[in-house]
Amino acid sequence: MRVLTVVGNRPQFIKAAAVSGPLRERQEEILVHTGQHYDDSLSDVFFAELGLARPDRELGIGGASNTSQTARMLAALEPLLADYKPDAALVYGDTNSTLAGALAAAQARVPVVHVEAGMRSFDRAMPEELNRVLADHLAELLLCASETAAQNLRAESVSGRVQVVGDVMVDVALRLQPAARASTEIPAAHGVTPGEYLLLTAHRAGNVDDQGRLGELVALIEALPGPVVFPLHPRTRARLHGAGLLQRVRQSPGVVLTEPLGYLEFAALLCQARAVLTDSGGVQKEAYLARVPCVTLRANTEWVETVQTGWNTLVDLDPGSAVDALRDFAERPPLEHPELYGDGHAAERCVQAIGAL
Ligand code: UDP
Repeated sequence: MRVLTVVGNRPQFIKAAAVSGPLRERQEEILVHTGQHYDDSLSDVFFAELGLARPDRELGIGGASNTSQTARMLAALEPLLADYKPDAALVYGDTNSTLAGALAAAQARVPVVHVEAGMRSFDRAMPEELNRVLADHLAELLLCASETAAQNLRAESVSGRVQVVGDVMVDVALRLQPAARASTEIPAAHGVTPGEYLLLTAHRAGNVDDQGRLGELVALIEALPGPVVFPLHPRTRARLHGAGLLQRVRQSPGVVLTEPLGYLEFAALLCQARAVLTDSGGVQKEAYLARVPCVTLRANTEWVETVQTGWNTLVDLDPGSAVDALRDFAERPPLEHPELYGDGHAAERCVQAIGAL
């Protein structure tokens, strides 16, 4: 069986790193990198660190609006599908690469497998929500991280087969977090002490593309009790720079700005942080696995179980709520920590399900 996998951005390289190894033991895989994330800090470092095979094809399609980026990907994928004639197309998550891969394959009558199917924020203003809903309705095999995701799909009456396999990002996190926790030299290299600093990430379009929201994000950062390590996503850097706010963040007391980090360095900072603040889906989940409290800089989340168990608090961009949440985490008794997104063997289940297509 020949599987054509389409990836394009940072979290997809991590997800593909979990699945690609076991997949290649049983099937032929053609890896296509759309180029959605193309710079070294968001792309190459993940291939090197996580042992993901080099892409067979690189489309070099980054930048521009979501619509034109997706359109260019569709046009580039059509001839590839015709050349390779795969038996299945594998897509991950909720990006433009996910939607383009799923739509181009479905139109070529190639069965689509969607890993991380069924996640919903129920917020159609998010480009990611549009991508995931559409990919789910194009897919023949929908592999879910949680029972909640499977319920979302049943509620939408998707036509493909739904299976809960667990989360493939959890496979990677469970494998690498023990070493990350022990790497105390990494916080030290950033000038912070394990257990005493906050780790911050922010790059969602809803938080950084709108100038008003971006200003609120900066006010929130200034209100945080430091030190705060903040690996700056290129999109966020560009928006802060464009709005004349970069210098303000840089000069904010206690803020340690860094470039986007490789997976291992970021995991070390995450596992040893006092708490994490983020608008990233993957980081909310990884904080839960590391038993580090999370403050989510959004009004909603797809990873609802992390909120229900008390490990994650949604504050949107309200500085007072963020500071209160951090204080509440520090003061309350220890929380239960059920296994929410699988046992670290999700990739193996994905490969089995793909083999049975
Ligand atoms: N990540 C990383 N370096 C960083 C920030 C994040 O390796 O500087 C990892 C993080 O551990 C997680 C993934 O990137 O696995 C999340 O990606 P991102 O926030 O871009 O995507 P989202 O989850 O929001 O779709």
